[in-house]
Amino acid sequence: MTQITQPAPEGSAATAPALLSLHGVQKHFGDLHVLRDIELEVTAGEVVVVLGPSGSGKSTLCRTINRLETIDEGEIRIDGELLPTSGPGLARLRSEVGMVFQSFNLFAHKSVLDNVTVAPIKVKKVPRAQAEREGRELLERVGVADQADKLPAQLSGGQQQRVAIARSLAMKPKVMLFDEPTSALDPEMINEVITVMTDLAKSGMTMVVVTHEMGFARRTADRVVFMDAGRIVEIQPPEQFFTAPRSERAQDFLSKIL
Ligand code: ADP
Ligand code: MG
Repeated sequence: MTQITQPAPEGSAATAPALLSLHGVQKHFGDLHVLRDIELEVTAGEVVVVLGPSGSGKSTLCRTINRLETIDEGEIRIDGELLPTSGPGLARLRSEVGMVFQSFNLFAHKSVLDNVTVAPIKVKKVPRAQAEREGRELLERVGVADQADKLPAQLSGGQQQRVAIARSLAMKPKVMLFDEPTSALDPEMINEVITVMTDLAKSGMTMVVVTHEMGFARRTADRVVFMDAGRIVEIQPPEQFFTAPRSERAQDFLSKIL
C-alpha cells in the first residue's frame, strides 16, 4: 500500500506519539455515509469515552478499529503501524486490539476458564499450563475466579461480561475497545462491570469506551469524543464537555440525557 511511505498525519499530538490514530477515515454503507472525516489520536494509557446519539457511528468507529469493518478512505494506525487487511498481520492486529461488546459472546459450550485460555493457546501458541495460570489470574482480577469451571450460562450477566473482559485481556492487547458493555445488563450488575473497567483504566490500559454511563465518563475519561451523524463534533475533557459543551448538538444531547 502506498500509504506506508507517507509521513505522520498533520495535526499529530505534539507530545507522546499516538498509540491509536485515525486519519481522514471515511466509511459508507451503500449510500449512507456513516463515518465522515474522522481524525482521532489516542495516546498510551489514555481513556477516551465516545458519546453520541443512536446511529451516530459509534459502533462502526469501534468496528473499524479492530477491522471488523473495512474503511473506504483514510488510515488507522496502532502503535504507528497501519492496520493490516488480511493474513497473519490481521490475526496479530486482532490480538493487539481487544473488544468487548454489549452481548458477551462467550463460547457457550466451554467453561469460563476455557473461554479465557482458548485464544492464547490457539492463536498465540501459549502453553496450556501457562495460559491457565494467567487465565486464573485474570479471572481473579475481574472477581470471578470461583466461577472458572462453570459454563457461561450458569453465571449472571455481570459475571459473564467480566469474563468477556478477562478473555480480551488474555491476549495482552495494546488497546481495549468497549461498545456499550453494560447496556444489556440489569441495573444492579452495571456497577460491577464499571468497577472492573475503572480498575483497568487505573492500571494504565489504553481504552476507547462507548457507554451511556455518564458517571464513568465524568470520573474516568481523559477526553470525551462526541459524535453526531458520522462526524466527531467535539473532543473535550469531561469536566468541560459536561458543563460547557461547545456545539449545539452536544448541548441538545446532554439536555436529553442528564
Ligand atoms: P451507533 O453505534 O452510534 O448507534 P452505528 O455505528 O451502529 O451507530 O450505526 C451508524 C449508522 O450506520 C446507522 O445509521 C446504522 O443504521 C448504519 N449501519 C450500521 N451498520 C450497518 C451495516 N452493517 N449495514 C448498513 N448500515 C449499517
Ligand atoms: Mg452502537
